[in-house]
Amino acid sequence: MSEVKSFYEVDPKGQFICHKCGIPLVKSDAVFGYLNNAFPVEMPVCPKCGFVYVPEDLALGKVLQVEKVLEDK
Ligand SMILES: [Zn+2]
Repeated sequence: MSEVKSFYEVDPKGQFICHKCGIPLVKSDAVFGYLNNAFPVEMPVCPKCGFVYVPEDLALGKVLQVEKVLEDK
């Protein structure tokens, strides 16, 4: 077993596999939408079916972080 070094970093060797297609996901630019804002992010995407893997840490922690930044303005 290998330890997880980063919450958001994707293994460059393609550690994530699309369960639908059975092929490794590739890093791709994506947009994370929250409220009326869109934030550019890099997430593993399936090149075949377009499935975007959203880590639970990103889906939860990142949104809270973004929300806090916006409130501070
Ligand atoms: Zn797929």
